[in-house]
Amino acid sequence: MRIWFLLILGSFFVFACQTPEIKSIKDSDSKTEEDTNSTKDAIIENRIDTGITIYLTFDDGPYSTTPAIDSLLSALSIKASFFIVGSQMQWSKKYDSTFLAEKNNPLFKIYNHTYSHAITNGKLHSYYAHPDSVWLDIEHNKSFLGLTSNITRLPGTNSWKIGDYRRGTKEDAYQVIKLTDSLMLPQSFIGWDAEWRMGASKQMRYVDTLIKKVGELTIKNRQHQKHVVILFHDFLFHSNTALAHLAHFIQALQNKYHPTFEWVENYPGMSQSLTASNEAGN
Ligand SMILES: [Zn+2]
Repeated sequence: MRIWFLLILGSFFVFACQTPEIKSIKDSDSKTEEDTNSTKDAIIENRIDTGITIYLTFDDGPYSTTPAIDSLLSALSIKASFFIVGSQMQWSKKYDSTFLAEKNNPLFKIYNHTYSHAITNGKLHSYYAHPDSVWLDIEHNKSFLGLTSNITRLPGTNSWKIGDYRRGTKEDAYQVIKLTDSLMLPQSFIGWDAEWRMGASKQMRYVDTLIKKVGELTIKNRQHQKHVVILFHDFLFHSNTALAHLAHFIQALQNKYHPTFEWVENYPGMSQSLTASNEAGN
């Protein structure tokens, strides 16, 4: 494992050397170099106190790539949230130990991504046509994995319910959220603000675009603007290049935006929402 990690950091160093310095949003219009350095420093210093919080969320695990992701995040001491699909573990016992390692890692928290991930029902549209079945799928996953929290990410949809906060109300999956509302079921749903796609695992320019997007989200006029939830999928980190890109991404975020990395249970309103639901529903 140690040799593996040195390889990752080594390739990261190569990328870091090859990649030109990524310009921050504030820096993009700079016309002079040395004269504005002190101003730039002041801007960056100000950003340190802005309270930016980033939530790294990994979906669809456990997977064969998960241990390498876990090792990288552990080496960097970064908190992350994992949305687990229970049915992934029916195919191989090796995922049992992967899951246990995640569950026992103090940097990580495990959340619900449904047991089936809509696989058994085919297309997402027909899956969400039966919100009561989706709820059973959520409950099944919760008991199968022994989850303690009531935080779910619905498969293939960016739908949110945290207290009175809602997003994705036009999605098919919103029927599930309405069901939990009508039955006062103690459940929060969280989607994402930005997504790491396949391109970012292969080409650094997509990573740089995502770094810039995170910065833009923190100044965009929107609710909880300083809180950015980033969606990853475990299966997108099957190469050392992808892992090196992830290391670069995290370290660039740290250098540019000075964020706190948090679990989704610490997203604004989440803990109050679940407490209120528990009092009402149980
Ligand atoms: Zn998924």
